[in-house]
Formats: sequence, C-alpha cells, structure tokens
Amino acid sequence: MPRNPHYDVLFEPVRIGPKIAKNRFFQVPHASGMTNAAPHVRAAFRGMKAEGGWGVVCTGAASIDPTSDDSPFPCATIWDNADIRSHALMTDAVHAHGALAGIELWHGGAAAMNRTTRLPALSPSGIPWMATHVPFMSSARPRIMDAADIRDLIRWHREAAVRAEQAGFDILYVYAGMGYLPYQFLMSDYNHRTDAYGGSVRNRVRLVEELIDAVREATHGRCAVALRMSMQELSTRPSDVAPSEGHEVIGLLRDAPDLFDVKMDYSATDCAASRFTPEGSHEPFVDFVRTLTDKPVVGVGRFTSPDTMVSMVKRGVLDFIGGARPSIADPFLPQKINEGREEDIRECIGCNICISSWHDGVWVRCTQNPTAGEEWRRGWHPENLPKDGTGKVLVVGGGPAGLEAALRLGQRGFEVSLADKAGDFGGRLVWETQLPGLRTWNRVADYRLGQLRKMHNVALFPASELSAQDVADFGADHVVVATGARWLKRLCGSNELPSVDIDGPNIFTPDDLARGATPEGPVVVFDFDNYYLGSAISEGLASQGLDVHYVTTAGAASAWTFMTNEQPLIHQALARRGISYRTLQIVTGFDGESVHLSQIFTGEPSEIAAKSLVIVGQRQGGSALFDELTTVRGDASAIKSINLTGDANAPGAIAHAVWQGHRTAREIGLNPEQIRIGRDAPFASRDFADAVLRS
Ligand code: ADP
Ligand code: SF4
Repeated sequence: MPRNPHYDVLFEPVRIGPKIAKNRFFQVPHASGMTNAAPHVRAAFRGMKAEGGWGVVCTGAASIDPTSDDSPFPCATIWDNADIRSHALMTDAVHAHGALAGIELWHGGAAAMNRTTRLPALSPSGIPWMATHVPFMSSARPRIMDAADIRDLIRWHREAAVRAEQAGFDILYVYAGMGYLPYQFLMSDYNHRTDAYGGSVRNRVRLVEELIDAVREATHGRCAVALRMSMQELSTRPSDVAPSEGHEVIGLLRDAPDLFDVKMDYSATDCAASRFTPEGSHEPFVDFVRTLTDKPVVGVGRFTSPDTMVSMVKRGVLDFIGGARPSIADPFLPQKINEGREEDIRECIGCNICISSWHDGVWVRCTQNPTAGEEWRRGWHPENLPKDGTGKVLVVGGGPAGLEAALRLGQRGFEVSLADKAGDFGGRLVWETQLPGLRTWNRVADYRLGQLRKMHNVALFPASELSAQDVADFGADHVVVATGARWLKRLCGSNELPSVDIDGPNIFTPDDLARGATPEGPVVVFDFDNYYLGSAISEGLASQGLDVHYVTTAGAASAWTFMTNEQPLIHQALARRGISYRTLQIVTGFDGESVHLSQIFTGEPSEIAAKSLVIVGQRQGGSALFDELTTVRGDASAIKSINLTGDANAPGAIAHAVWQGHRTAREIGLNPEQIRIGRDAPFASRDFADAVLRS
C-alpha cells in the first residue's frame, strides 16, 4: 500500500544543528536496563528501532562520572575510554539503517545516591531528591557543591562529550530534567545558592548554559547538542517577566541548544499509565516551547496514532514525534506508517511493564512486544520470523498467550487452528478490560486478532470448548494448551504463606465476577495479589453503586504498581470513588455479616460489616486438558508435541503470558541445538563485556 499522503509531513527531513534527521520519528532517550555489560543486547535493541524507521535513536541515561551512580538501577556509563567501544556497537547498529544516534549525558546529583561507588552525592544546596519517597531513599544525604565541584561537573560533561563523539554519537544531550543535577540547579526548591548559580532564574539557568557550551566546544560544533528539560513544574511557576518560569527559562536558552527535548518532571506523569492518563498528556505543559525558539522541539505523550502525530506537527506543538514506549511496543511503527500499514501497528497499551523492568534492574520487557530485549540474546526479530513451519498446529485457548502463539506459528507458516470456549477471543482481557481505565489494554487482543484474521493459514474457532478427545481427534501435529489460570478462594497467613481455603455463598474470586456474579454491598475486596486487579475491581464495584472497602496485606493499595508508576493515581482513584482502604491487614474469616481482619504484624483483630467478600489473592495454573492429553499421548501418537504455555503453565501478568506464548511458538518443531541463547549477561562485569566485545 502506498503511504497516506496526509502523513507525508512525518517523513520530512529535519535539521538538528550540524546533523539532519531523515524523518520526524525520534526515539527519545529511555531506560532499557541495558548497561555497558550487555553491549550486544543494547546495540540490537536500539538498532532494531533504526531498522524500523526511527530517524533518531538515543541511548538511555549514560553516567558521565562515578559521582553519578544510579545503582541498584541499571545505568550505562561513559566514564572512560573503555566505555567507548561498548557504545560504538550501538551507534554502528543505528547508523546501519541511516538513523542518527543520540546519547543522554547524565549526572544524577542528589537523585543518584552512589550506592556502588560510595562517593558523596552532589547537589546545589544539600537538599535530597524525593526525600519522602521511601523506595528510592538512601540514608546518605548529598553534599553542597562548591565552585570547584561546578567546574568539575562542566569538565566531566566536556570529557564525556569527547568520548561520545569517538563512540560515534551524532546528538549529545545535556540533561536538565526529572530531578537530576542540572534540574536541581534550575529549581528554586533545590537551589538555595547565593552565588552566580542561584537566586534569580537568570542565575539558575547559568549552569545549563555552561554545560551546553562545554559540550558544543568539546566537539567543535561537529555534534548536535540537545537540551532535555522537564517543564511540568517550571511551566506552573510565576515569573515577573514572563507567563511562567518555564517561559523565562526557554526564553533565556532559546538559541543555546540545537534541539529542545521537553518532558514532565516525575516518572508517574512523564511515563504515565493509560489506566489514568490518555495519549498526548504532556501537551499543556510543553506547547509554548515551540513559540519561543526557532530550534526544533521533540516531546512525547505515548503517541501511537499517526493522525495525532500529524496534528502535533501541523499545530506547531512539536517538530519531532518523540517515542519511548511506542518505540518499544513497535520498533517498526514508522515503517508501517510509511508503507500505509497503520492497522499493523502494535500499539503500546500504557501498562508500564517496561518501566517496571528498569525498577527491577533488568533488561526491558514489554507486554505488547515480547521480543523487546530478546533481539540479540534469542535472535528474536519483532516482525520477521523464519518461514520454517510445516504441518498443523492446534492452539487451545485464545487469551494473550494463545493469541500470540497462534500469530507467531502462523507467521512461521504452520497451518494454525485457534479454539476458545468463549464467544470472544481475548481470555482474561475480555472481562478485565471492561474495568475502569483498562480499555486500552485490549489492544493486546485487538492487534493479534487483526493480524490473525488476515492470515490464510489460520482458522479461528470461537465458542469451541475442546476436550482431550476432541484434541486427539483433530489430527494436529502439534498442540498448544493456553487455557489460563484460575483464581483461588484462599486466604493468606500473617507471614503471607497461603493459608486456609474458604468458601461460602457470598465469597467471590475475579473468575466469578467475570462469569457475571453480582456481589451484594457492602463488599470487602481483599487483595494480596497486589498488582492492578484488586483496585480495578474495587473501582468497578464502586462504579456500580456498591459500598466498597479495599483491604490489603501490603502497606499501600496495589502495592506492586509502585513499579509501574500507577500507585499514587490508584490511591487518588480509590478516594475519588469513596472507597475506604485498610493496609497491613489479613482477612481471617467471613460470617456473611462481617469480614474479620487481623493486623499483619501485631495481630490486633478488627472487623468490617460486609455482605460479600471478593478475594484477589492467588492464581493457580495447570490444565486438566494438558494432563489428559499427555497421559493419552500413547494412543494419540500422531501428535508430535503438546505444549503448555501462558498462565496455564505459570500464572503472571499479561506480559508474562504473551512472552510464554511467543517462546512456545518460536520453539515448536525445533531441537534444543537450534535454539539460540546469546552470551551477554545482565550480571556480567565490564571485564566480561570487554571479553565479549573482543570475541
Ligand atoms: P493466558 O493469559 O495464559 O492467555 P487466559 O486466561 O487469558 O490465559 O486465556 C485462557 C483462555 O483459554 C480463555 O479464553 C478460556 O476461555 C480458554 N479455554 C480454557 N479451557 C478451554 C478449553 N478446554 N477449550 C477451549 N478454550 C479453553
Ligand atoms: Fe507500552 Fe506496556 Fe510495552 Fe511499556 S510494556 S511499551 S507501556 S505496552
């Protein structure tokens, strides 16, 4: 298909100082969890986006000096010449596809507590970053920078810029956002200095200006210099001479960098989850920047719609369409638009599993794109699979795992049949995405079904419950069982070990609600799963007018969503819907009138009057169908392999199910020697990485 001419503007080349980007698709710096110890993994991950058509592809933060050490979070370094070769693999991979390579030179200041290097953290005025945010907190406090420290900081940027150019980067970032050191100088909250770097906006901007000059001079104007700034707070602060301090800062810096990269200040607003925040949410905070400078501006907002992208350019909000999550979910997004294949875009669902990987300290994972982070280690390409499949495969269960398995088996060339007992494909998504805020997640099913319906070698059988005999009679060469997991009516002990099973007329699990059960209020939702579902169910029940009490073993509602940037917004949503919540409690019993609780540490008993109890606790996989099939396999010997996958194999988040389904589909029909596992390792030392680079 030819490209829709309406989208031509997205493919115009744009100048960035001394460099020219071939189009407006700009993969802004984002965390990948890939440090210098995994150079091939990183190069393949970033290179894939260049292959997919992104005109600019950047690293994540690269620390410029040991005084900026983000551990335990994984962070790249550009500390010395040994780091150059590691980054050069990435720039080569990006240049191979005609894209520009950018590096985010990073000094975290008080936001990096140097847990490994043990050097005192630096700050303008000794004020810790996120002092109230316990998980990021350190018991160490930053030191106040003196004039020599400021000179050092400028020198570190200059030296890092030289190394970055040697590594092949085209665009060098000065990073004054998200609480990091130059940002702390910009913000009066963190900068109480009385020297030339503190006080007025003019003085607070001085450091950023000097860093930009240092980076430009270090590379003698050969590299483009980008300035990344957070505008959320600055754009709401009053100024004596401009509509806001943000306006004043941009006005002072209007000619300094070759590119402005503008964003929000906090992870939860910058990388906002779709459950609470729509596409394009940054616009009100950054839309003025373009009016104050002639330099190109890039911004993000989980853009997946080409119409929205065109509108951003045509309305003069942005020159470049920034992408972090959309580029992870679909590295080939630009190419698909270019080829008139918009309906093939694998749209980011805004679940933030990707950011949770960084919080976990591991390579990036993605719900929509199971190949993210596996490009080199497993050799997985997000679009191209080997066309090596012969024979028939029957996939039983069309949830996230079964849909992904069927799609990838179809792409390999197998003759695929996908059956589900439900009338609609999507498995757990069918019901869960009807809960408040979760509609966007249905893109997991929509994308796969859209692709499957176009494939001539795939047949879909909804409303088809299959028994072991049905499967044996089907005559498939390979069988994939992706029949999902079930929620248990089981409580937990104060030590969080599973305890007694519980049952009764008004006790429900999410499976019961999905089947249409209607609890009577008041209802207690007891959550020790601690991800999104307990709070989403609470929201759903409250939206039906029920009086809902949320109870959890954890210290906060949906405690694990701290990892996905959703937790503060979940608390706000519970408050908005009038849902009371109790933390650090276990449910010990329910008599039909009251739910009995016990404080998790002290054992202090209490109760909540309730007519119903919903338990969102433990899920169990396993499949009677699989067990029966593997038992009768002697009789059904025509079946070459029977594969259990997804939640039926091991329950988890949707991302885990999709990854399992993908892996199953990749490996069916292969023998172990044909399955690649690359040698970069997340735990590898830099010596190991050097050895890998030499090999
Ligand atoms: P996963 O997340 O692993 O994909 P889900 O629970 O979302 O798991 O989906 C499992 C799907 O399997 C559901 O849609 C369910 O209807 C289907 N299923 C379960 N048992 C059978 C069966 N015997 N025959 C056909 N479909 C089944
Ligand atoms: Fe988008 Fe979720 Fe993938 Fe992140 S993990 S890129 S939010 S789909």
